[in-house]
Amino acid sequence: MRLDLHELIASPGGRKDFSFVLDPADLTFDGVLGYMSPITVTGAVENHAGLITLHALIEAELNCQCARCLKEFPMHLRREAAAYLTEELEDEDNEDYYLLEDGTADLEEIARDALILNFEPRLLCKDDCKGLCPKCGKDLNDGPCGCAEDPDSRMAALRQLLEKE
Ligand SMILES: [Zn+2]
Ligand SMILES: [Zn+2]
Repeated sequence: MRLDLHELIASPGGRKDFSFVLDPADLTFDGVLGYMSPITVTGAVENHAGLITLHALIEAELNCQCARCLKEFPMHLRREAAAYLTEELEDEDNEDYYLLEDGTADLEEIARDALILNFEPRLLCKDDCKGLCPKCGKDLNDGPCGCAEDPDSRMAALRQLLEKE
C-alpha cells in the first residue's frame, strides 16, 4: 500500500493516520507455522517541522513451534516500526530512512522490514522451557526423565557448573 503524503509534506505540524492489512505471503519465519489472524498495521505519519516520521504497530496472532520442546503454541505478535521518510537519501546505509517516491511512501515495505529485521531467531513456548531430553526425547517440562541418573549426564552437569565459575 502506498500512502499519498503530498498534503502532509506541505503542512508542518500535520499528521496522517493509516491502517491496513499486510499480506503474509513470503513472510515466513523459523518456528512460525502459520498466521491465525490478519497482520494488521496501524500508525501515523507526522510532519515535524519538515522532518517526516512514521510510527506503526504491527500485530497478528501466530501459531508457533517451540525451538526447544517442539510443542505448538499461540503467540501474539506485536512489533513497533519507526522510520524517517525523505525525498532524498543522504545516507544509503541508514535503514531507518525510506525514500518517498513522487510524494508517496511504501508502507508495506516499511512494515515488512520491521518484522524481518526484528524477528527472534528462536521462538520458545516460555522463556524457561526445559526442552526435550537429548537422549530419550522426553519433554522435560513434564518432569525429569530417567536419563538424569546416567553418570555421563552427571558429568555433563558438573562440567557445566565448572564452566560457569
Ligand atoms: Zn517449549
Ligand atoms: Zn531422557
